[in-house]
Amino acid sequence: MSGKTILILGGGLGGITAAGALRRLCSPEHRIVLVERNAKFSLCMANLWLMTGERRRSEEGERDLTRLSERCIEWTQAEIEAIDPAAKTVRTSSGTLAGDYLVIALGAERHPEAVPGFAEAALDLYRSAGALRIRESLERFTGGRVVVVVARTPFSCPSAPYEAAFLVESLLRRRGVRERSEIAVYTPEDLPMPVAGAEVGKELVRMLEARGIEFHAEQIVMKIDPAARTARFELEDTKFDLLIGVPPHRAPEPLRAAKLTDASGWVPVDASSLRTRHAGVYAIGDATSIRLPVGMFLPKAGVFADEQARVVAENIAAEIAGEPPRRRFDGHGFCYIEVGDHMAAYGAGNFYGIPAPTVSLEPPSARFCAEKHEIERAVQALWM
Ligand SMILES: Cc1cc2nc3c(=O)[nH]c(=O)nc-3n(C[C@H](O)[C@H](O)[C@H](O)COP(=O)(O)OP(=O)(O)OC[C@H]3O[C@@H](n4cnc5c(N)ncnc54)[C@H](O)[C@@H]3O)c2cc1C
Repeated sequence: MSGKTILILGGGLGGITAAGALRRLCSPEHRIVLVERNAKFSLCMANLWLMTGERRRSEEGERDLTRLSERCIEWTQAEIEAIDPAAKTVRTSSGTLAGDYLVIALGAERHPEAVPGFAEAALDLYRSAGALRIRESLERFTGGRVVVVVARTPFSCPSAPYEAAFLVESLLRRRGVRERSEIAVYTPEDLPMPVAGAEVGKELVRMLEARGIEFHAEQIVMKIDPAARTARFELEDTKFDLLIGVPPHRAPEPLRAAKLTDASGWVPVDASSLRTRHAGVYAIGDATSIRLPVGMFLPKAGVFADEQARVVAENIAAEIAGEPPRRRFDGHGFCYIEVGDHMAAYGAGNFYGIPAPTVSLEPPSARFCAEKHEIERAVQALWM
């Protein structure tokens, strides 16, 4: 058996997990090559901790990709410019690479420019720099209207905007300015985390209302005026003093250019194997679209990217060893929803449930919040 090359495109959560799992499963004659533009890895969930000041510097949660070489994982720091899925080649800013297998883990690209005024007016929760700016603004905030706006669906981490609202509420309360403040969430969704089902969504609305946080459903933001501090939606307008934004998402350009995406705008994959329609080419995580029996798509979340990476790694290792596939992705997932005061609720269930996902929500506790922090330590174990 000659050595194979497995090219992993993207060194975010899915790519890093796939690389670590493949290295454990494949003997050293097989090359694991990861292509990622950034020199550091970090988890996006840390943006919430940067926003509250629980974490002061973005560097604290970061890990250096150069250290992957200690685990015999080759890292190429480069921009992926073009992908030829049939030939399994990738053109990058530092040359063309060829693999026997491709694992696409390029995540979702944010494009705030799709909403006029968004980039100028909204502090972007989905970038660490934006999360730090939110913290600075909250530290100076003396009262007024805080609006959390979800620009478009789908977006990564369905709970994140709601967590941001809960955390802002808790922070302003601790700072003694809550009474002089309003907090509101505007979203195109009909309920928070709609794929988890109406019961979970209604419970989250109840939790928002219990804390005096307004919930404005089915609101598509058309335009934001940074000078007037107003956001125009299809159905109504709102004023804001502080605008926290979740920008529009789309599949990264090389995936669109390679025609790997479909009408959903994302890369369609087989729901249990994560295969694309090209032999030996898999896609995982936020870049993919998996239509559920209920008609909606699997949410974009790290918990799914992580498990999908392990499934793909096991099955590539099995194929290389001449064995049948070992593992299937079964659509189970969970999430911790921070509500402030060091508490988090816990939602978990089977998103592949027929006819609809079966997801339950456990009330907030300090234990769930501690478990969420454990996730970061577990992911960082690759660097130990
Ligand atoms: C604020 C926030 C909180 C979150 N909290 C949670 C949570 O609590 N639980 C949970 O399960 N999920 C959470 N998520 C979602 C989670 O971060 C994502 O679902 C997960 O990171 C997706 O993994 P991925 O590998 O598909 O993409 P990513 O982790 O985004 O990785 C994609 C990688 O590809 C690289 N890349 C893209 N294009 C190119 C290119 N052309 N050339 C080179 N490199 C490229 C990017 O630099 C990036 O490193 C959160 C997200 C946010 C924003």
